[in-house]
Amino acid sequence: MIAARPFSTPLSPLAAAVAWFVFIPAALALNIDRLTPEETTLHRSTLQALEPLITAKKQDGTANLLTWEELYQPLSPEQQAFLDAFRTLRGRQLGAPSHYFGEADRPDLVPVGPQQTVKDGVATPLDPQVLPRNVFEAYRRMMEAMEKDLGRRLLVESGYRSPAYQLYLFLFYMSKHADSVKETNRFVALPGHSEHGYPPRQAIDFINQDGINGEDHPEEFEALPEYAWLQQYAKEFGFALSYPRGNALNTAFEPWHWHFESSDK
Ligand SMILES: [Zn+2]
Repeated sequence: MIAARPFSTPLSPLAAAVAWFVFIPAALALNIDRLTPEETTLHRSTLQALEPLITAKKQDGTANLLTWEELYQPLSPEQQAFLDAFRTLRGRQLGAPSHYFGEADRPDLVPVGPQQTVKDGVATPLDPQVLPRNVFEAYRRMMEAMEKDLGRRLLVESGYRSPAYQLYLFLFYMSKHADSVKETNRFVALPGHSEHGYPPRQAIDFINQDGINGEDHPEEFEALPEYAWLQQYAKEFGFALSYPRGNALNTAFEPWHWHFESSDK
């Protein structure tokens, strides 16, 4: 829970209480088809207020572990209420009946890497990633097998992500989806709905060693020999494709996103 929500501008305690009380109903009425102009302004100012924090967390390699306290700290009460409104949303309200997993406790995490892609002789380091220990072991075994067969392996572009970081990503990507909560939800899960933040179904977004991740063109990843290999062998290592083409969850096709299914359920 969020204990302290200091106002960024000085207000008398009474004015603060009134502002807080008045704002809550507006935030809960979030327009999910397309943000209203007022909500769009609030959305932009929220992202702006978070930018220094996210930049710093990316620099020290801990963005994926962002806590709710860290996320709320730089925000005004209005911006915090805006975040709260997203946290109450459920996928089924948004036309995409994605699973609601809830917010699991942070598991025993181990670092992956350092990792880098190499294209035309130019090496690009990937952001630091972490995975639950058992998932990392399964991934490592799977990649040993892939390397034997193909002479290539896949890297982890995104592993575990905390629910707070998931919400930040949702807000960040909403600008790319016409400020529509509904549309964004087909591409980015809301917190509590993402396999990246749910260790019993931990997801990995793969990227190949040449830097192909399919983000803008899924068919590029789909065409990779690494993808064909995964389709044939991933299940032997406990991994499954979460969002095939035309999936019933109304989630976009994500050939790079595979989740681990623990065998000791
Ligand atoms: Zn993913």
